[in-house]
Amino acid sequence: MAGELGGAGRALYFVVPCYNEEEALPRASAVIAGKLKALIGAGKASPTSRVLFVDDGSRDGTWAKILSLCEGDPRFAGVALSRNRGHQAALYAGLMAARGRANMAVSLDADLQDDIDAVDAMIDACAKGCDIVYGTRARRESDTFFKRFTAEGYYKLLRLLGCEIVFNHADYRLMSDRALDALSLYGERDLFLRGLAPMLGFKTSTVEYARAERVEGESKYTLRAMLKLAADGALSLSLAPIRLVLCAGAAMLALAAALFIAWLAKPGLARSSEEWLALAASVWGAGGFITLSVGVAGEYAGRAYLESKRRPRYIISDTAGDIAPDIYDGRGGAP
Ligand code: UDP
Ligand code: MG
Repeated sequence: MAGELGGAGRALYFVVPCYNEEEALPRASAVIAGKLKALIGAGKASPTSRVLFVDDGSRDGTWAKILSLCEGDPRFAGVALSRNRGHQAALYAGLMAARGRANMAVSLDADLQDDIDAVDAMIDACAKGCDIVYGTRARRESDTFFKRFTAEGYYKLLRLLGCEIVFNHADYRLMSDRALDALSLYGERDLFLRGLAPMLGFKTSTVEYARAERVEGESKYTLRAMLKLAADGALSLSLAPIRLVLCAGAAMLALAAALFIAWLAKPGLARSSEEWLALAASVWGAGGFITLSVGVAGEYAGRAYLESKRRPRYIISDTAGDIAPDIYDGRGGAP
């Protein structure tokens, strides 16, 4: 089988970002390590494979749990960020820690909502030459109506804006060593990994799975974090919003010119007693439009300003297992 052929001797890293996940870690570590053992046994992954936890500045006992896991079993490794930087930055930190050691890295959430058994099909696809394999959700029944509705609407909006994005794919994904190298070349601070991955090119495929409900703890994604991720996706990947405003502005000017010409052509405009309403509407309309345009332009300018600072995406404060303490500082792939 192609899977066995390509899988043997290839190091697989599970990269698991964790924020206040002390409740989820016991099951996550047992299930993922069990899976890894089975994959190594089947020759799909090498014995040098690891489960790499990234502690994203947790306030609970997450890092202590990761440390004790690493002490008890060499298949575990850990990286701790100096403070909470958010899921995308934490995942990126893990991927970059795995880079150079892993032949394949699979990103996975600590709550195991994403079906870990889909990894077999991902590894098979990788062995057949795919550098990125996207896990996509077959069903969304486990999500609330609000989450399902907003998430699906958001994918559609991004597509409309011209962003290449894999439908119903979050961050459950296999990336090859080449794909990790390519990812490290992208310099943006505001990360939207599921939008960056399709930009890398290479041969890709998808594996469908059913997403389960979170068993331990609560979602660590606040509404605010979700909105930020949504804005990062729409604004960092596409210039469509600003172009839309530009086109709308041009159309409004053309309309104003046409109205002015029409007015000039008339001997005298008919005036109704309600004319002030139309006037008020146009004043508010123009004001609103200008404000919105300034807002969109400001959003891009603000992002350019923040990106120009080239602040590190994260700082690593501790490492565990066989991860050297002097790894990647988060500034990007190029020196
Ligand atoms: N996470 C993180 N930093 C954060 C928020 C979340 O590393 O600031 C991790 C979290 O521990 C989990 C994953 O990202 O492993 C996805 O978060 P969660 O399951 O809470 O999101 P949801 O599935 O509800 O979208
Ligand atoms: Mg979750």
